[in-house]
Amino acid sequence: MNISKDSVVIFHYSLTDTAGEPLEDSGKNPVAYLHGHDGMLPALEKALEGKTAGEKFELTLPAAEAYGERQADREQRIPRKHIVAPKKPQVGSAALVQTKQGRQQVTVLKLGHTMVTVDTNHPYAGMDLVFKLEIVDVRPASAEELAHGHAHGPGGHHH
Ligand code: ZN
Repeated sequence: MNISKDSVVIFHYSLTDTAGEPLEDSGKNPVAYLHGHDGMLPALEKALEGKTAGEKFELTLPAAEAYGERQADREQRIPRKHIVAPKKPQVGSAALVQTKQGRQQVTVLKLGHTMVTVDTNHPYAGMDLVFKLEIVDVRPASAEELAHGHAHGPGGHHH
């Protein structure tokens, strides 16, 4: 079947910057998402629309269509205990923090005993990104997946 609204798409991907520097990939196990429910970058979903299992393609997205431009005023001092992971945060590395809006990925700028300074820009903000995708499978979503708004099973959400 072709990818359309309410399809569950199972795919492998790799992500690099425009110089080819690797950032992340799906590794051994493909990931799954529910098409048409804002689970992916809109530009990626648009490129996936209509494709079928077995197709491979590459997509270069300017920062504005990926994770946005880097904002200069996104530094914040927060209590160190709000860092959820990793256990030993490092300056210059990503960390996951608990905020009023939920969990958010940040970059650690300064580490104190009780307070830390973080940059709340997405780690890929301001970067042009190259996605390489290989579609492994496309199937209709179950009623439960549609009710939850995300894919279940391997590569998807586990409850
Ligand atoms: Zn669910």
